[in-house]
Amino acid sequence: MRKRDLPTRVCLACQRPFTWRKKWERVWDQVKYCSEACRRRGAVPAPIKNGQARDSSRD
Ligand SMILES: [Zn+2]
Repeated sequence: MRKRDLPTRVCLACQRPFTWRKKWERVWDQVKYCSEACRRRGAVPAPIKNGQARDSSRD
């Protein structure tokens, strides 16, 4: 018996990885949250890194 390699994804709300589930087999491409609670909470905005986002042009 060997385990199948189930796909995993990072939840957009809690930022934790979750694993494919049978109930998602038809909608896995659309699944972005690990749970209903996270789905309701929604995605958290990406953290803003100060001082790193600058696109300074060189001479
Ligand atoms: Zn989550």
